[in-house]
Amino acid sequence: MGEIRLSVVAPCYNEEAVLRDFHKRMSRACRFATGEDHEIILVDDGSSDTTWSLIEALADEDAHVVGVRLFRNHGHQLAVTAGLSVAKGDRVLLIDADLQDPPELLSKMMRIMDGGADVVYGQRAARMGESTFKLASAALFYRLLNKLSAVPIPRDTGDFRLMNRTVVDILRGMPEQHRFIRGMVSWIGGRQVPMPYVREPRFAGVTKYPLRKMIAFATDALTSFSTVPLQLAVWLGLMSGVFAFLILSYAVLQWMLGNVVPGWASSLVAISFFSGVQLIVMGVFGEYLGRVVQEMKRRPLFTIASIRQAGISTPLPAD
Ligand code: UDP
Ligand code: MG
Repeated sequence: MGEIRLSVVAPCYNEEAVLRDFHKRMSRACRFATGEDHEIILVDDGSSDTTWSLIEALADEDAHVVGVRLFRNHGHQLAVTAGLSVAKGDRVLLIDADLQDPPELLSKMMRIMDGGADVVYGQRAARMGESTFKLASAALFYRLLNKLSAVPIPRDTGDFRLMNRTVVDILRGMPEQHRFIRGMVSWIGGRQVPMPYVREPRFAGVTKYPLRKMIAFATDALTSFSTVPLQLAVWLGLMSGVFAFLILSYAVLQWMLGNVVPGWASSLVAISFFSGVQLIVMGVFGEYLGRVVQEMKRRPLFTIASIRQAGISTPLPAD
């Protein structure tokens, strides 16, 4: 059992434009769902704007707020992980700070969990204010991921979810550096219940997921949930073998018919094609190998600079 009924964990990276409104709506939702028995953990993921001073101010005004400041930007998934490491609640809600996930859905999620669910995850029935590219790439990504992954990962699902203490403790015990939290929670299993909702447009500020980060996120997800890309080499090798055999038969046939094949152009094409294939396969190996190297180092997942609660700053995580 946790020490309090509910912890809310919200990662914040340069969210000065939304934080006050987020805090207002989130605390109202928490009060409605739990009375006073909750904490709101705001994790500053190395913001370069005034996010941290805002969090400090909120922590000083509201004793429910716990501010966690990371040393530097660790990325969304690790910021959430840092928040989970200090959460004391019997249940934990993961929610984005930009109000795309409506805090008001909390009480509905709590009720579903009262009915016996271990995890209640938000499933986007619609997404407002996202670019066509983001929608199309997300759709493609989830379909591909599910084809390749042994663990089914629900579609159109983000990290907006309520989890019970058992699930949170298992999740905290998973040591991997490259974290794809929604997939890890699916892996844990138990009773996971979807709750359809409409994802709102960002309240203010801009997305912190440019294309580069989206690709890195997708690669992390694929490599941690599937080794199918590693088997790509076998298939490409087989396919190119068949292709080479066809070309060979053609060349022999021409030779038997007495046609002299000059051949330099086709050799060149074949050589560059297969070098390309080999480089791609080596690149895929490299992606996995690089992750093995990083896991091997066993570095901490995140670094906490300080924690602020009720006007008190603690330099190290209070465990
Ligand atoms: N975020 C973070 N660290 C990062 C990037 C994002 O903590 O390096 C937070 C961000 O403040 C927000 C949440 O993660 O609360 C989701 O990010 P964002 O809204 O930018 O992503 P999108 O909704 O556009 O996919
Ligand atoms: Mg967002």
